[in-house]
Amino acid sequence: MFEGLQEKLSKAFKTLSGKGKITEKNIKEAIKIVKLSLLEADVNYKVVKEFIEDVKKKALGEKVLRSLTPDQMFIKILRDELIKLMGEKQPLKMIHSPSYIMMVGLQGSGKTTSAAKLANLLKKKGRKPYLVAADTYRPAAIDQLITLGKKIDVPVYCGDRKHPIKIVEEALKEVKDSGYDVVIFDTAGRLHIDNEMMNELVEIKEILSPDEILMVVDAMTGQDAVNSAKTFNEKLDVTGFVVTKMDGDARGGVILSIRYVTNKPVKFIGVGEKIEDLEEFYPERIASRILG
Ligand code: GDP
Repeated sequence: MFEGLQEKLSKAFKTLSGKGKITEKNIKEAIKIVKLSLLEADVNYKVVKEFIEDVKKKALGEKVLRSLTPDQMFIKILRDELIKLMGEKQPLKMIHSPSYIMMVGLQGSGKTTSAAKLANLLKKKGRKPYLVAADTYRPAAIDQLITLGKKIDVPVYCGDRKHPIKIVEEALKEVKDSGYDVVIFDTAGRLHIDNEMMNELVEIKEILSPDEILMVVDAMTGQDAVNSAKTFNEKLDVTGFVVTKMDGDARGGVILSIRYVTNKPVKFIGVGEKIEDLEEFYPERIASRILG
């Protein structure tokens, strides 16, 4: 995760090693490298611009700790600013019982897999999850969720497999007074955003008034993912993101831009194809992985 970005940033730190203190002159090169590294990692341009300005201000500001060398100080500033950029960790909201969680996102982002991974994670925390397969658009999605449900011993409702709204409404009857305390709805995506999909999602949202609408985005798709996140958020007012495929050659663009662009938190990250490969999002950990 972030190997490329990490390697590039370490070059910036090296330019400051052995220096007596941070000065406007000697920080220039380091700042330039950081800026380029972030742009190459596909971080949104506006994000990079503001980030760099903040880092520069801090590095030349008064708060320099005497106990740290300039390169250590620079790393500390970057770390603090990266954490600020990703925003504070926000827990999954489960106010109602049962609590409804709606999973949305484009096809291939890892939505169905993440729905099952989340059910598994919540089950391990002592919850009683129930899954609803309402992705009637991608042919294999329903059977995929049923298979995953069997694996983790969580029931999967799929109704007539044809009409998503009907599936959702009937699932609500099924779970009423059943003892399941969190219901996760897998919904249909598309390869690209279209009105039919959005209208269906809006309709499901109105039926459910869910505690969470989690949009699943693929870290590998960079700024395309951030742009779709912006559109989904405008239409659905999502409550958070699941950023998948962070185990791949994730360059950083999505995880470092999405909060700034949408003002919504990342709540989970996908770190592999296995059912256990979903982690709660901790900005401090990501910052540490980026800085090495
Ligand atoms: P959907 O169309 O959004 O429902 O996508 P799927 O859930 O079917 O996932 C698409 C592919 O991405 C599948 O092969 C998943 O195994 C894979 N996938 C999902 N999440 C992750 C992840 O965090 N890491 C990796 N490496 N693969 C993932």
